Amino acid sequence: MASANPAFLIAGNWKMHGTMAMADQLTQAIQHGFNHDQVKVVLCPTSLHLTTVVKAAAGSGIGVGSQTCHTAETGAHTGDVAAAMIADAGASYAIVGHSERRTDHGETDEMVCAQAEAALAAGLTPIICIGETEAERDAGEAEAVVKKQIAGSMPTDLTSADVILAYEPVWAIGTGRTPSNDDIEAIHTVIAQAAAGATSDKAAPRILYGGSVKPGNASEILPLNGVGGALVGGASLKAEDFLGILTAAAGVASS
Ligand code: PEP
Repeated sequence: MASANPAFLIAGNWKMHGTMAMADQLTQAIQHGFNHDQVKVVLCPTSLHLTTVVKAAAGSGIGVGSQTCHTAETGAHTGDVAAAMIADAGASYAIVGHSERRTDHGETDEMVCAQAEAALAAGLTPIICIGETEAERDAGEAEAVVKKQIAGSMPTDLTSADVILAYEPVWAIGTGRTPSNDDIEAIHTVIAQAAAGATSDKAAPRILYGGSVKPGNASEILPLNGVGGALVGGASLKAEDFLGILTAAAGVASS
């Protein structure tokens, strides 16, 4: 069971993958394969698989989250899922503003902020994703981009404990590429300063790094200054890989 403020939060974003059987088996494998009080595990399956994961994770301390939520409480929004429904399914987190949602569904900072507010109103902790494209980084705009995304996507009047940020450079997602350690530390510092300016306690929220985190690089990325955990896509779909990342996190937390 993780402590109230564990050293790391490692979230698995399963994206549009899985079956009921896979969701159950993968959750069971993670639950039985890992337990460390300084590493909080959060699994984010499709909304269809939320209750399966909630049931399989019951009593384990594993958190469950959605991959998005609608801005409205309820209503005529065909195909969408409200934050209150996600909470009712037993989840505690909602990823919002993932770059795939921003690209595939045209989600703007304003919409992401409204989703985060809807998640908070339903009692969920939003995991707000930000990050630059490769062209933006090449143009030297990465810091300006994340600052603008924080200003637009992060609700104000929150304490730092209410929300989680995930820095995910778009060019590192699913590509096997990662920024240099120096670049991760530099941008996490910028994000922490900008986000702290928006919280009522003037402290930075937890900031996850996301983008091609694997068992082989987790021990290098997690100890970096300002990194409070990881948002993991591809490597969260195989128990062996995800458990490798969790074990690396436990090793860093214990060192
Ligand atoms: C993600 O999509 O949130 C992600 C980080 O993916 P991957 O780990 O596969 O790069």
